[in-house]
Amino acid sequence: MLKKIIIKGAKILTMTAYNEAGIINGDILIEGQYIKEVGKVSYQVDDVEIINGNNCLALPGLINCHTHAAMTLLRGYADDMELMTWLEEKIWPREAKLGADHVYWGSMLAILEMIKSGTTTFTDMYFFMDNVAKAVEEGGIRAVLARGMIGFNDQDNLTLNESKSFISNWHGEGKGRIKCMLGPHAPYTCPPDYLVKVMDLAQELKVGIHIHLAETKQEFDDIRKQYGKTPVKHVYDLGLLNHPVLAAHCVHLTEEDIAILQECSVGVAHNPTSNMKLASGMAPIPQLLEAGIKVGIGTDGTASNNNLNMFEELHLASLLHKVSWGDPTVLPAYQVLQMGTIFGAQTVGLIDEIGTIEVGKKADIILIDLNKPHLYPSHDIVANLVYSAQGSDVKTSIIDGQIVMKDREVLTIDEEKVIYEAQRYAQKIME
Ligand SMILES: [Zn+2]
Repeated sequence: MLKKIIIKGAKILTMTAYNEAGIINGDILIEGQYIKEVGKVSYQVDDVEIINGNNCLALPGLINCHTHAAMTLLRGYADDMELMTWLEEKIWPREAKLGADHVYWGSMLAILEMIKSGTTTFTDMYFFMDNVAKAVEEGGIRAVLARGMIGFNDQDNLTLNESKSFISNWHGEGKGRIKCMLGPHAPYTCPPDYLVKVMDLAQELKVGIHIHLAETKQEFDDIRKQYGKTPVKHVYDLGLLNHPVLAAHCVHLTEEDIAILQECSVGVAHNPTSNMKLASGMAPIPQLLEAGIKVGIGTDGTASNNNLNMFEELHLASLLHKVSWGDPTVLPAYQVLQMGTIFGAQTVGLIDEIGTIEVGKKADIILIDLNKPHLYPSHDIVANLVYSAQGSDVKTSIIDGQIVMKDREVLTIDEEKVIYEAQRYAQKIME
């Protein structure tokens, strides 16, 4: 028999209405992996687990559209540097020392942090992906995983083949919580002939492509110099955007690029903190949203953030675009929350499963404890969520119908052990 859970007497922000009117008072019935009823729920007390929703707000779990989870091991290791120097002198040499176990414990630490701050789905690009998938399976979170591929280093197609077997082994695993994509790192690390191979494989395996695109001014200038076109036009002309594409960053865009992203229904992962910290620039997010482009929010890896707290990311996204456009009306609170939930689900290709609290969707739900000084008074719950809430206000988290955190205790992960091992493995790569 399927397990039943009822969240009783919560305020529910469904994210299905196009305004703040989507808040209702009531219950949520979860059966197995799915949301069965929302509103007034009748039940027999003996066959359900009841979660008290008093003074709590239920909302869809947050979706982190772009990160590199295991980079938690490099958190705080190299900061305040220019992107290419940072990558070439600091990050890549340390990453070269990472083994499968490092990636497992680094990912576990990331998953622990994400669950404790309200993320229920993350989109990852890294290596030793079998171990990331294993951590996802054990941690109970949902994820869209891609083996990062550097085309220049893959003359014998070893990484491409590894991606292929990773996808055959893991796509749809964890009762469907794990989805896979192909992850060519970026146009400046993957030459055109390599991207063509990636496209062929995407076609064969029927999966999407996750790529860094138009992140820095240097990339924009280099690609223009090399190919005579912008990074977006370059991958468009290659045919890459005919596939379902999740493009991280999209900071440096022309009007024509925006039209291309719109025409090809590209999902854009906006990473405000990473773009600010690495001084990559300001992605034209209000323009992209205006053009109807799917935009979700990501944290990027913790080496350039330095945390995986999506509440902080939502807050900063809103503020960054207000100040950069000189207009406090851009990216209002509800729209930013949409980017963290329903738009994020569209961006990563999971809108049929998650992103809203609706009958028939998978039960990925977080409960915010509203009984916090910084969440009073409640003139506007959505404004409080975006401008005042903290990741630590998440009290309970349900993913795929499973309670993964209850009253701040993560039930799927041995927290003490993960922190101990992550610290140990982080030290090893510094030796
Ligand atoms: Zn990235």
